[in-house]
Amino acid sequence: MKTTQLLIATQKEAPNDAQVISHQLMIRAGLISKLASGLYSYLPMGVRILKKVEAIIREEMDKSGSQEVLMPVTQPAELWQESGRWEQYGPELLRFKDRHGRDFCMGPTHEEVITTIATQYIRSYKQLPMSFYQVQTKFRDEIRPRFGVMRSREFIMKDAYSFHLDQESLQQTYDIMHQTYCNIFDRLGLDYRPVLADSGSIGGDASHEFHVLADSGEDTICFSDQSSYAANIEKVAFPKQESSATPSAQQESVLTKKKTSISEVSEFLSVDPSSCIKTLIIVTSAGFKALALRGDHELNEIKAHNLFGEFELASDEDIKSLGLKKGFIGIKQLGIELVVDYSASILCDFVCGANEWDHHLTGVNWQDTEFTQADLRNAVEGDDSPDGKGKLVIKRGIEVGHIFQLGTKYSKAMNANVIGESGKAVTTTMGCYGIGVTRVIAATIEQNYDDRGIIFPESIAPFQLVIVSINYNKSTRVKALADDLYQLCLEAGIEVLLDDRKERAGIMFADSELLGIPHRMVLSDTHADNGNVEYKARNNPEKFEVSYSEALTFIQSKIG
Ligand code: ATP
Ligand code: MG
Repeated sequence: MKTTQLLIATQKEAPNDAQVISHQLMIRAGLISKLASGLYSYLPMGVRILKKVEAIIREEMDKSGSQEVLMPVTQPAELWQESGRWEQYGPELLRFKDRHGRDFCMGPTHEEVITTIATQYIRSYKQLPMSFYQVQTKFRDEIRPRFGVMRSREFIMKDAYSFHLDQESLQQTYDIMHQTYCNIFDRLGLDYRPVLADSGSIGGDASHEFHVLADSGEDTICFSDQSSYAANIEKVAFPKQESSATPSAQQESVLTKKKTSISEVSEFLSVDPSSCIKTLIIVTSAGFKALALRGDHELNEIKAHNLFGEFELASDEDIKSLGLKKGFIGIKQLGIELVVDYSASILCDFVCGANEWDHHLTGVNWQDTEFTQADLRNAVEGDDSPDGKGKLVIKRGIEVGHIFQLGTKYSKAMNANVIGESGKAVTTTMGCYGIGVTRVIAATIEQNYDDRGIIFPESIAPFQLVIVSINYNKSTRVKALADDLYQLCLEAGIEVLLDDRKERAGIMFADSELLGIPHRMVLSDTHADNGNVEYKARNNPEKFEVSYSEALTFIQSKIG
């Protein structure tokens, strides 16, 4: 392709709302264009990249034995009522009525639709296992769309669903998908980790997320420094612990005027936050509960959700109505159920609120306090790895994929049965598997850029090679050489872009660097005088001349 035939939509400045580098560079390189909050158009250069990512995903999904389908974005409410999600799914589900007043939604995911298809067409155990995938637009009315296509409202997902006779068969396909995802992310050249993920009510090790490591990631992932253990912080489970220390201090009430936070109290009393207890009050459908954690630990909301269902932190009013003093809540005489985190429950001689304004207690111990114990907290760097091997290291990750064993959640609700071997109806067991196709592009850029722009891995670069021809429109010699080389490259099947614009060399170089095209050849009168072209790789500052007559062989060897 020639640049004069292509929309080169590069720009110098990134918009103010572009906080992360991938968002800035995708706009600056002219890959995407914002239409409204969380809605982006893909411009021609962006579509080339998107197609490449999709092609890799399709190839690997086909290899896994999954079949491609294409389901509608618009889904009737009845399906969601059948699965129970019409009520459960929050405002991320965009609902609307058609002209007849019938309820519909824009699909944020397609379990309901695929299960309906399975119900219609998969009748016998002999057809199982069977797996389907699609590459398609999803809509989620995200509360905070941000980071460009990383968290947008409309995005492209590869979603896949598998149907099985039993758990064993599901596990086999799940393992194949796990490997398929590794193959895909390897081909995309990403530095990623599969990690254990929360699987909500289904439990077990039934879910893995694939995270691209990047500081801009919204997720926190934990690894052991000595084993293969890796999990989303939501999922790192800690066992109950036995206390080894014995209480020795005398409990005392101390004046801690206006010191309400753990950091203020611990500094004022010269004790480490890990020797303090903080008490949070939450509201659940079963009423108020007090949760006690070590001062240096944070509540893990997913764990709390799995234990208590929907909950929120109590308001100041609520706390007052319970007769408690915000900032000075302790562990004794709370009048509501107290749940203590395992690591808080083994503390001795600690500090906590005195249930009295401006007072804390020191030398507190758990005797004479009624409570239950639970795993409530987030992991912190240096925690023992839950598999007993090594210490946890914590990093940021961008979730690009998620595989999940659904069990019979949808098949039961929607009657996806088959006739089993014995002639009786059997409810199918399901798995689902997603990749954020558009998020993958942003994640790739987060890992591959420099101060000049994107450095695309060869596998998804919009072009493999750019030929920059200086004075193309003035020098007939340069034009002829450039056209010939371009033609040779095209015939050799190289994805080549010929920059034939009437632009200064600096602008052409800057554009191709911003766009991250892996290989560049420069043709000019000076190089032509020596019978050469100049070559430079995007990921290497070194430039050198190559004989014009060997230019094609040379570039073929580089592209491999
Ligand atoms: P997140 O926790 O980031 O919201 P999710 O758990 O809601 O993700 P899934 O429902 O598992 O995501 O969807 C499968 C994949 O779709 C995710 O792994 C992610 O790559 C992608 N994805 C999800 N939400 C978005 C979004 N708003 N914009 C772009 N990609 C998304
Ligand atoms: Mg989400």
